[in-house]
Amino acid sequence: MKRFALPTLALLLFTTAALADGAFYGDPPDKTHPWAIHDMNRPQPVRVEPGTFSSQDTPGTPPSDAVILFGGKPEEIEKWISDKPNGEPTKWEVKDGVLQCVPGSGYIRTKEEFSDCQLHIEWSAPSKVEGNSQGRGNSGVFLMGAVEVQVLDNYNNPSYPDGMASAIYGINPPMANPLRAPGEWQVYDIVFRRPIFKDGKELDPGYITVFVNGVLTQDHTPLEGGGGHMRRSSPKPFPDQGPLKIQDHGNPVRFRNIWYRPLPKRPIDGGEASHMSEEMTAAKRSEIAKGIREAAAKLEGNDKMLHLFESLCYEDDAEARKLAVSAANDFASVMKEVPPDKIESKKGEILQVAKALRYLTKFKILPEDIAAKRDLEAIIKVEDWEPKPQPKGKKK
Ligand code: MG
Repeated sequence: MKRFALPTLALLLFTTAALADGAFYGDPPDKTHPWAIHDMNRPQPVRVEPGTFSSQDTPGTPPSDAVILFGGKPEEIEKWISDKPNGEPTKWEVKDGVLQCVPGSGYIRTKEEFSDCQLHIEWSAPSKVEGNSQGRGNSGVFLMGAVEVQVLDNYNNPSYPDGMASAIYGINPPMANPLRAPGEWQVYDIVFRRPIFKDGKELDPGYITVFVNGVLTQDHTPLEGGGGHMRRSSPKPFPDQGPLKIQDHGNPVRFRNIWYRPLPKRPIDGGEASHMSEEMTAAKRSEIAKGIREAAAKLEGNDKMLHLFESLCYEDDAEARKLAVSAANDFASVMKEVPPDKIESKKGEILQVAKALRYLTKFKILPEDIAAKRDLEAIIKVEDWEPKPQPKGKKK
């Protein structure tokens, strides 16, 4: 057994962790993925302070990046108008922190317009049970004013399934009926993606996902044009944005804690997520490579070399490649001349550069016949620095 095995391993682990923030690790970018697997150049997720959950007595608080449409304050009625052509003030009322439908006064809509979102809304049907089927505690949440997620008191109240609470009305019934009794608060959490068309062609039908009181009832349900009453809808383009509407269906349904979070664009809509178009991927890779080359310009020595090598994973650049390979060859030439009793002090640097060269040649970002690689591998072999394979199941 080799002496100093533990300190050597510790040094190696430290070196690996410090190496250019995880560069030369997971599979490199490809035609539709601008980032490598486990790529630390990928932007960190945006920090959001979470809110709190509601109880029957008290509404919860929204997350820090939510846009509040109704949080219980009387003046928030100003965020809503009657959904009549003249956009007059609504006659719906705010009482005790609750927004209540005044039957006969008409739908309301937000002044604000938006599209893809996570929407949270809580509602309560009248505790005095009146009517049945579609006549009991009926309202509705209309995303972009067009797609109704049904609000209906279906507690012990059957109706046509594609019109029951949390149905995409006229499109798809909920998968379950997790409603609480009338008078209690029901919680809808909705994920909405609008349809996307280009030149009259549907690129994405749009989708809705709904949780009712924490139970999944719509799982990425395609919009099929948005649905409606009696008639089968067919796919159609949506505008870029629209208001949120709430239905007056003749019942004094109450609402509270209404907020949304705008969602990042899908790749099909110009967004940067998972699988992107080849065109967008190439542009993004070029942008990342440029940033790394700019960082490299401010560095010296192996740091500069490794950054230039890293940039090649995103985009080839003749100048960067020439500089980096030349620096690696120079480094290897110097290392070859280090006397055997001093070479251990260079171990970290040698393994670091060799790791980069192994990665770059493995993925054919550089040709195999790099002099530096040959020379450094020879030193690693002579010094027996090759990390020993870890027992299976230990690494993640
Ligand atoms: Mg309705």
